[in-house]
Amino acid sequence: MVIFPDSGNNPHKPTAKAAVPSDESPTVAVRVTFLGTGDAFNARACCHASYFVEAPSAALLLDCGPSTLLAMKRDGHSVDPIDAVVLSHLHGDHFGGLPFFFLAYTFDTPRQRPLTIVGPPGTESRVHELYRAMYRDLSSRPLPFELRFVEATPGVHCAVGAVDLLPFAVPHQQTEISLAYRVAVDGRSILYSGDSGWTEALVTHSRGTDLFICECCFFETRVDFHLDYPRIAENRERFGCRRLVLSHIGREVFAHRDEIREELGRDGLLIEL
Ligand SMILES: [Zn+2]
Ligand SMILES: [Zn+2]
Repeated sequence: MVIFPDSGNNPHKPTAKAAVPSDESPTVAVRVTFLGTGDAFNARACCHASYFVEAPSAALLLDCGPSTLLAMKRDGHSVDPIDAVVLSHLHGDHFGGLPFFFLAYTFDTPRQRPLTIVGPPGTESRVHELYRAMYRDLSSRPLPFELRFVEATPGVHCAVGAVDLLPFAVPHQQTEISLAYRVAVDGRSILYSGDSGWTEALVTHSRGTDLFICECCFFETRVDFHLDYPRIAENRERFGCRRLVLSHIGREVFAHRDEIREELGRDGLLIEL
């Protein structure tokens, strides 16, 4: 399935570099900005989960926590280029920022072209419920742009414009589906764990990726539905990614930061792939 086919002539890409012929693609950078690297409690005053991926052919947000619009403005990003928002799961620290983008696209930087929202089953109804809960009056009126929902099936590739997404289920919630994504765009690949307990699927899908954004909530605490640093360190050599960056960082991890050998994400971190 290909979403937003009109993105090829999208005029709103001031922060993405111009497209180049495919034979030059190895030199083209995909930029990943860590907008928010905190956990649900904003540990160490870090923003909620969100990552801005800018590629020559598309721009997307991986997750959209409540502080995402703030973080984009903090880092000097326009919201215009965003083609799609890809949600790992429907916890507030991962999708609670969407209504502020709906407002921004209505009043602040008006938008007309469609916005695609990818997420696990149930995303469309939950996003509408969230918007209605936060802005009941506005949500009763149509948005000035089209929302296109793609409810991802674990294990089944989906395409948003030039971006290939492979969602896969990860252990985080008991009844609802939480997803990690392997994202491929313009010759680069990113694995994003979302929120996840330990699963061998992270090892499998990290192979050959340029960047693995891996959640790291805990240090001493070990649970089945989040990751802890010792577990990541035990498996570090098995990951097949070129660069591993820990994010969704909890206070236990900050308290032990001198013992951590892997790269810790920070709000505003920019990585070029
Ligand atoms: Zn979370
Ligand atoms: Zn969560």
